[in-house]
Amino acid sequence: MNALATVVPTPPAASGSAAAAAKGALVAADLARDFPILSRPVRGRRLVYLDNGATTQKPEAVIEAERRFYRESNANIHRGVHWLSQHATDLYEQARERVRRLLNAASADEIVFTRGTTEAINLVAYSWGRANLKAGDEVVLTGMEHHSNIVPWQLVCEQTGAVLKVVPITDRGELRLDAYESLLGPRTRLVSVVHVSNALGTVNPVARMVELAHAAGAKVLVDGAQAVAHQPVDVQALGCDFYALSGHKLYGPTGIGALYGRRELLAAMPPWQGGGDMIRTVSFEGSTWADAPQRFEAGTPNIAGAVALGAAIDYVMAIGLDRIAEHEHRLLAHATEAAQRIPGLRLIGTAAEKAGILSFVVDGIHPHDLGTILDAEGVAIRAGHHCAMPVMTRFGIPGTARASFALYNDEADVAALVAAIGKAQQMFGGARR
Ligand code: PMP
Repeated sequence: MNALATVVPTPPAASGSAAAAAKGALVAADLARDFPILSRPVRGRRLVYLDNGATTQKPEAVIEAERRFYRESNANIHRGVHWLSQHATDLYEQARERVRRLLNAASADEIVFTRGTTEAINLVAYSWGRANLKAGDEVVLTGMEHHSNIVPWQLVCEQTGAVLKVVPITDRGELRLDAYESLLGPRTRLVSVVHVSNALGTVNPVARMVELAHAAGAKVLVDGAQAVAHQPVDVQALGCDFYALSGHKLYGPTGIGALYGRRELLAAMPPWQGGGDMIRTVSFEGSTWADAPQRFEAGTPNIAGAVALGAAIDYVMAIGLDRIAEHEHRLLAHATEAAQRIPGLRLIGTAAEKAGILSFVVDGIHPHDLGTILDAEGVAIRAGHHCAMPVMTRFGIPGTARASFALYNDEADVAALVAAIGKAQQMFGGARR
């Protein structure tokens, strides 16, 4: 699509600090200036935002793309005969092309816009799952899935009579690949696995898991919610059949995300929601469906959100996802070392391959209390089960405190985190021994 460069204005940050960062080492403090919210104080202190696993902050380029869409380009898309509608349609379809580029999918027709990862997984469960699963078939999940990659499968298994199998995890928070291999068999129809665990930080060996699943004749869905903002992802190299992501964890807006689906699979899948835009013809005798991806996009979508997600993708790609991954790995190694020096702190999730997520418990302090005390220090973390209750059950804990990193975090944020944990320990009567 040659129109891309001419129709879409260059996002300011991509041509500014992000582009500069691409030339040298990533300087988080410089990039942080692209994110207006990071300069607002919280509770009278500098905001130390370490809740990126829940949602990332938005750079000016994304905020501006959404604002600009409503100021200059707003109209409903597809079928519009007037200029503005065609313009909005172009922007929306160019955003789809950006998602394709992010994932290195073979075609933009393999990208379906959804509300986010949750809706993308539900789409596969309700469309592919109901059409392909029958009594006795098996769906393989892992013990570290987010609830959004468990509950849709439970619901569809109830309806179809298929059964769930679960790959166990080790004390370090890694998948037991031996157990995975032995779970795969002639009844396995689908493997649905998280790329990066939001509760443990584990990066799963997805390419190898796909190979094994395909050898058993099963399809593979990858939950990429925690992966796409933190490392390069190539769905063709992974070989997966479906890949789900959320825009808001990728510096984009909430309420927009995407499902990658292999072309021939999407082509054979029935609709799961009916309405405008997903049909070819409608009559009271019966209706026919549009081709993918429109078949799966019933109703008016989040057009402005898609356009702003496109800007977010431009932003991270201008910096370079390999560079972002390198920065976050360095920061994780630094934070891990610092955390290990805190007496009474136990890391939950110490896999060999990890992304920038530090989950931990501290002796004598409930994770929620820890989260509240850290908040008073201006340090925003998450505390609880992180929508991964089976992980907490596996480790015999009610929840963890979780610091999760993004491209704008640096050693100063880790120092603030460590200091605030020390303060919490003092308040809780010398848990620090
Ligand atoms: N999977 C994982 C691993 C996640 O971390 C999340 C969000 N915490 C989701 C799925 C669900 O994403 P969303 O709420 O954006 O649909």
